[in-house]
Amino acid sequence: MIYLSLGSNIGDRLAYLRQAVAELVDFFTVCKSSVVFETKAVLPIDAPASWDHSYYNMVVAGESLCSPEALLYRLQEVECRIGRPKEHILGSPRVIDLDILLYHNVKIDSDALTIPHKELKNRSFFQSLLAMMGAGPDNAMVETYTPLRSFVLEPKIVGIVNVTPDSFSDGGCFFAPESAVKQVQDVYTAGATIVEFGAQSTHPGYTEIPPQEEIARLAPVVEMCQGIGCLGIDTYFDEVVDYALKNSFLWINDIKARLQKQTIKKIADHGAKLVTMLYGMDIKWLEGRIQYLINLGLCRENIILDPGVGFGKTKQENIAIIQKLSQLQELGCPVMLAHARKSFMARFSSHSAAERDIETLAVSQFAACLGIDYLRVHNVQEHMRFFVAGHCVAF
Ligand code: ADP
Ligand code: MG
Repeated sequence: MIYLSLGSNIGDRLAYLRQAVAELVDFFTVCKSSVVFETKAVLPIDAPASWDHSYYNMVVAGESLCSPEALLYRLQEVECRIGRPKEHILGSPRVIDLDILLYHNVKIDSDALTIPHKELKNRSFFQSLLAMMGAGPDNAMVETYTPLRSFVLEPKIVGIVNVTPDSFSDGGCFFAPESAVKQVQDVYTAGATIVEFGAQSTHPGYTEIPPQEEIARLAPVVEMCQGIGCLGIDTYFDEVVDYALKNSFLWINDIKARLQKQTIKKIADHGAKLVTMLYGMDIKWLEGRIQYLINLGLCRENIILDPGVGFGKTKQENIAIIQKLSQLQELGCPVMLAHARKSFMARFSSHSAAERDIETLAVSQFAACLGIDYLRVHNVQEHMRFFVAGHCVAF
């Protein structure tokens, strides 16, 4: 088995790691991947303070037909494609660093390559990750190491930030711009792939506000969130989508499927993803909808299917549509489940909406076992903790 380390300490670190894992496919078959550990940067003694960004580190185990030298070359090509300059100062921040930790039982000590990796014995986080994958030594370093934070790359988590006074489970919590901004940071730091704003509550029986008011609620928050990961919006107004695209949002959650054709074309031109929701129970409708969106320029990877829990369904139908999740997956697009805290849970739980995070996690786990792509939730940190623990003992 070959073990590679992947690290990133600048920009959207989880996104870079995910991209790197995806780019290995041409020359490396991944058999297992570790969780991601956030670790303090190990810096050269004279490093400037501005280099002190924590690292997100992970290990993948797999096989390759490349020799160690050829593998190093291919890894450096991936580093370049992701945006790491070929010439860089040792120890400086990097969007991605790909190293060979172990290559079967091979030992190499040349100018260009040392295997096992020369830092392996000094870096407890590598040893800890390797040990959990069944490969590394079991020693005191492993026993005493604790990461700052931990993450999984899959399923991807969409973190909800409701800038509203009246959402069903957290209405008013993040209506003030400062509390919304803090929630954005918290959700992103906890490992959300997408931070999805909602500026209009659409719970059953809601009172509609016009698009201008949605934009007015969003503007002060969005202004303070420049540079934070991937932003998304849950809306059904073309004007709000325009505003979002102008502010570099890459995720549009169209909950009513009534956006105009020209808006959908714009979403496609921006390379943004479009969530399309199933209202009611007719899964076949989605097939036609996918074709309609493809004809307007979207590619399949950018069409996200949402079974629409809580939209046009009885409580029992909400459970039934979750039970049919794999039928949506068969349609060939990524799938997102947006079930968090919703009222169908009253079928089996007497807890109020804000208290349904455990039930939410259980449903998330069901969907994760089916290989769901995205889970849209309020409590990102709890999800990460839950999935990390499961991943670490599952090797
Ligand atoms: P880091 O030490 O943080 O990985 P670089 O990515 O800049 O820093 O690596 C510097 C050099 O280390 C590379 O150009 C490569 O030739 C060399 N190197 C030696 N052993 C290895 C290894 N096992 N994996 C990756 N690079 C290695
Ligand atoms: Mg390196």
